[in-house]
Amino acid sequence: MRIGILGGGQLGRMLALAGYPLGLHFRGLDPAPEAPLGHVAELLVASYDDRLALEQFATGLDCVTYEFENVPGTTAEFLATRLPVLPPPVALFRAQDRLEEKQLFESCGIPVPRYAPISSPEDFGPAIETVPLPAVLKTRRFGYDGHGQKRVRQPAELPRAWEELGRVSCLLEEFVPFDYEVSLLGARSRTGEIAFYPLVENRHTEGILAVSRAPAPRASRTLQEQAERSVAALLEELSYVGILAVEFFVVGETLLANEMAPRVHNSGHWTIEGAETSQFEQHLRAILGWPLGSTAMRGYAAMINLLGSLPPIESLLAIPNVHVHLYGKTPRPRRKLGHVTIRAESPEERDELVRLVLSIVEFPQPVTI
Ligand code: AMP
Repeated sequence: MRIGILGGGQLGRMLALAGYPLGLHFRGLDPAPEAPLGHVAELLVASYDDRLALEQFATGLDCVTYEFENVPGTTAEFLATRLPVLPPPVALFRAQDRLEEKQLFESCGIPVPRYAPISSPEDFGPAIETVPLPAVLKTRRFGYDGHGQKRVRQPAELPRAWEELGRVSCLLEEFVPFDYEVSLLGARSRTGEIAFYPLVENRHTEGILAVSRAPAPRASRTLQEQAERSVAALLEELSYVGILAVEFFVVGETLLANEMAPRVHNSGHWTIEGAETSQFEQHLRAILGWPLGSTAMRGYAAMINLLGSLPPIESLLAIPNVHVHLYGKTPRPRRKLGHVTIRAESPEERDELVRLVLSIVEFPQPVTI
């Protein structure tokens, strides 16, 4: 079986690496010739809207998936007329627009922060009345890792923030004084089978994920169940197939959905060593209609991103129970170059190892747990 992956980043590369033991073959499509998937699989270098290249890409594939959520929805739809494209393109469309995403959450009964759309200066007044300040102004499209966001503390700051974001369609969203952030990864197979991983607690640095700990140290059974109900509702509503990641803010015993990613997710990288079935293998099982694997944890786990520059690899490899993954990318400030996974027998041991790795790894802003 040959699977096409739209996007050739590290997520695609890890999908391929998880698929080889299952006898699968992969072909990626990415406009960048240096895309990391190309190190381990066939890579077609072309733009996502090059119809001739898409025809060539689709030839001989059994199914197409994506690892990059800003792939044009029309590309996924075009391919879907020829072969199965999973997760379904509708999930891509909904996730690409923060307004549509919020409306989807609400239609599934999932609580979200208060928000108001802004597409012109006429919307400033009504938005300020609906959304308490401080707030965050976010572009509706093409935001990632904290890009496309501005804090708004006073009403007078709103016009400036909107100018700075390029006068594009935005959402004004209340700033949530959350206790901490979590994400839940759910999988739904073509057969309708559903599975969830444990909630993971995430720490960010300048809007980029820095550390994930699994299971989330402070999350109760009630929070896990609440998150599973929310993600199950989304999986059913979208007739979803594959891994779906949803990020939440935790406020007391309540979850507010922040955003979803219709793909394997950075906060699930710990599953490679930390779970019976990695998110990458699970995604492949799901899109091929195979039985889902166990999501049980192998002890306690954590993931730490390597951003911008790499520490000497020996310093990480010397630590027992630390697993290093490098993506073969050229260093650039804030860029995700790799990650490490930690496995431990207890939460205390895990956190001690996390602190040790954090003392070696550099972040744009210091990160603590
Ligand atoms: P996003 O791209 O929306 O996931 O935002 C990146 C990070 O910015 C989140 O993980 C939060 O740490 C922070 N953030 C985003 N929106 C809000 C909000 N409404 N309130 C508080 N923090 C936020």
